[in-house]
Order: sequence, then structure tokens, then C-alpha cells
Amino acid sequence: GYRSRAAYKLKQLDDLENVINGGDTVVDLGAAPGGWLQVAAEKVGPRGNVIGVDLQRIKDLEGTIDERVETIRGDMTEDRTRERVIDAAGGEVDAVVSDMAPNMSGEYSLDQARSLYLARQAFETALELLDTGGNFVVKVFEGPDVDDLRADLDDEFQYVRATAPKASRDESSEIYLIGKGRLTAPVRPGD
Ligand code: SAM
Repeated sequence: GYRSRAAYKLKQLDDLENVINGGDTVVDLGAAPGGWLQVAAEKVGPRGNVIGVDLQRIKDLEGTIDERVETIRGDMTEDRTRERVIDAAGGEVDAVVSDMAPNMSGEYSLDQARSLYLARQAFETALELLDTGGNFVVKVFEGPDVDDLRADLDDEFQYVRATAPKASRDESSEIYLIGKGRLTAPVRPGD
């Protein structure tokens, strides 16, 4: 079974827009407890690999899919974590997916702002990692500045779609932005 109900969200997102393919290298941000890692590892198959990052420790996956997965414990708002992810990827990646969410304070405007900040961090990481043609998925809580984030994605991808997967409809404030087909290759500081 899957470690999280969230696993079904990634399945639905992938059914909708085919973000992960066999042989891909995938980076999964906010990966604990590991439901998306399980789904991504199945989809990339034996020739693919998946790098999962979270503040929390991620327990090893069961069975052969564990061989395709590497996990990093760290904070994606810190440069040193982003550098570790770039090192682990060892080159351009095919998909960056982020299900990162803040600890809920209960005050929506604060939680929404934190969610948007995490989504921005994921986007910056995607720009450093994604190969031409690569795909990006990011969770964000709906709110005023989401349109600006979407506009920034529009500049980088062939097209962008916003969706609320059925599996998350009871948490009605979250949506996922999907950027399909990166238009350019990564440019890193120092290149
Ligand atoms: N997709 C996961 C799954 O299928 O099991 C569920 C992810 S859960 C909704 C959100 C995760 O984002 C939490 O595990 C949390 O620790 C992580 N997170 C929040 N802020 C983070 C940060 N700054 N860096 C790394 N992970 C973060």
C-alpha cells in the first residue's frame, strides 16, 4: 500500500498531464512520509531514479523500488539543501514535483503566504535542475499572489495548468500548478 493518501494526488496529476515517464530522473520536494516517492519510483521504472527531500526523515521504501530512491533530510529554504539536491541529481532532471506544505497556524493568510513561499522555493529549484522539456508540479494554497506565480511559470514552460485533484478536494484551498515542457535549459550561478 501507499504511505499517504497524497500518493493518489500524484497519480491523478500524472494521469492528467503525464509528468513522469520511464527512465526519468525525478526530484520530489516535501517527500515525507513517501507516498509520492512510491508512485514516482513505480513510474520511472528500473532505469529511473528519484531524489526525495524533506525536513523529516523518510523511512526506506520497501522492496526493489528502494534501489531507485535516494532521500535527503533538509530544509529546501536553505541554499545548502538545494546544493545537496543538485549534487545528488548529478545533472539535469526530467521532473521536479513539490507537495511541500507549511505547518498550519490556523490563520489562513499566514499559512497561504508560507505555502506560496515554499512554492517559490520549489520553482527556483526547478529552474536550477530541469532539463529542456522537463515538467514541474507544485502545490500552493489558493490566494492573491498565486496568479503571479502562475505567470512566472507561463514564461518558462510550453503551457501551465492549474488543477485541484479529486483526492484533495476536501482540503479545498490547495491547488497544483503543472508546468509542462520547460522551454530552456538550466543556467546556474557560475556557469
Ligand atoms: N507528498 C508527500 C507524500 O506523498 O507522502 C506528503 C507531503 S506533506 C503534504 C508536506 C511535507 O512538506 C511535510 O512532510 C513537510 O515536512 C515538508 N516540508 C515543509 N516545509 C519544508 C521545507 N522547507 N523543506 C523541506 N520539506 C518541507
